[in-house]
Amino acid sequence: MKITRLTVWAFDLPLTKSYSLSGGRLRVDRLDSTFVRIDTDEGLSGWGEGCPWGHTYLPAHGPGIRAGIETLVPFLIGMDPTAPESVLRAMDVALPGQNYVKSPIDMACWDIAGQAAGMPLWKLFGAGAPATIALNSSIPTGTPSDMIAAVEAARAKGYRVHSIKVGGDQPATDIARIDALASACAPGETLTFDVNRAWTPAVAIAVLNSVSSRDWIEQPCETLAQCAHVAGRVANPIMLDECLSDVATHFEAWRLGACEGVKVKPNRVGGLTRARQIRDFGVSVGWQMHIEDVGGTALADTAAFHLAASTPESNRLASWLAHDHLAEDPVPGQGVRNRNGAATLPAGPGLGVRPDPDRLGEPAFVYEG
Ligand code: MG
Repeated sequence: MKITRLTVWAFDLPLTKSYSLSGGRLRVDRLDSTFVRIDTDEGLSGWGEGCPWGHTYLPAHGPGIRAGIETLVPFLIGMDPTAPESVLRAMDVALPGQNYVKSPIDMACWDIAGQAAGMPLWKLFGAGAPATIALNSSIPTGTPSDMIAAVEAARAKGYRVHSIKVGGDQPATDIARIDALASACAPGETLTFDVNRAWTPAVAIAVLNSVSSRDWIEQPCETLAQCAHVAGRVANPIMLDECLSDVATHFEAWRLGACEGVKVKPNRVGGLTRARQIRDFGVSVGWQMHIEDVGGTALADTAAFHLAASTPESNRLASWLAHDHLAEDPVPGQGVRNRNGAATLPAGPGLGVRPDPDRLGEPAFVYEG
């Protein structure tokens, strides 16, 4: 099978409400998503989506995905999309780094590989039956009473795992927030306090040795070295996210003893191929993982959830639905959806999500070999 054509769309995704993290220092109002359809000489087509969470959250840029794909496309035409690892190696030679550019191509190749095998991706990734995925909420930073109200609203939608954004204020403010939210946690609920790298190591150590909570703390500081320094001096389990950019940084995090869990996000690491390598490493070292994408519609969410659904339950905490924050839905009714705090995977072959091109508007470009 050979790739014969790539069609690329830019799709603007306003959020239902402005999203701020890292104590308000990083604010996002809309996302710039890129949809890719790969067509083949055997009539199968695959879809991918690449959607950074704005341009301040990570070193990834929405328009940069389309620019990067234009550079990659001549190397992709003629390749076999049912061999995603070969395609990824070719992309690494044609354009070193730039992992976020490669993720939608890699996703579309896996979609085709699944269709060619007649298997949903969760099965191709090794699961006998797809796990039901527990979802986690995302609670923005605010006053303790506002944040408790947001947890109660999420609880009413079925969420039992909450990602609570803190950081960016005086240490005493974060201590008060964490103590208040931990006390408001209901039996059976899991909390992660996500600092989004807002603390210096000194602040992280001071705050975490003052709170009574022993809940997860996510990405307390900017760098892996800073987070590792903190991890050795506090009692809370540490989850890492933004500072892990590729397979090698995950190995380094384990070598340093910097974390007990990680966020596995295909768009950040170069797609499902690499995310699966990281997931498998995480299983082997006993990490607990959130497997989800950086941003995007139910297409990107579903791709990441196929990987989550093939991961042992003891290594999975919960996953987040990026599309729940969007005011637009170009794949209505398709893919993973919140059903009382959990989501189930499509049973059809490949990704199981097929965007209607008419909903995406005019393509940004079409490339045929
Ligand atoms: Mg995070």
